[in-house]
Amino acid sequence: MEDYLERIYELMQEKGYARVSDIASSLDVQPPSVTRMIQRLGEADFVQYEKYRGVVLTQKGEDLGRQIKNRHQALEDFLRMIGVDDESIVQKDVEGIEHHVSPQTMECISGLVRFFAANPEVLSAFRASRR
Ligand code: MN
Repeated sequence: MEDYLERIYELMQEKGYARVSDIASSLDVQPPSVTRMIQRLGEADFVQYEKYRGVVLTQKGEDLGRQIKNRHQALEDFLRMIGVDDESIVQKDVEGIEHHVSPQTMECISGLVRFFAANPEVLSAFRASRR
């Protein structure tokens, strides 16, 4: 469900609307699965269907979509920062971590990223220790 919201959020940012076919191809799933999930998201008031625009996010859906997207971005930043330099591993691991990580752990990770950003010499020392 979070993957769908994240993808719909991204499509809305890019194009202003999200078509079932676009969601299906970008998540590599079949259109009927997308239609079913959109129904569930609609029942939970995250999306609604508009006649000419198709699937659009409600305010609630947009807020949650943004949070999911930000968490994804923060996890990417974290993995790159600690030295994961293979982009396909970054993407695969973020997809594995993002829907399981607790808010508390995420807050600690964000705190560490902020700390490293504010203390680049500490980050350099850490990166050097890994070589
Ligand atoms: Mn994601």
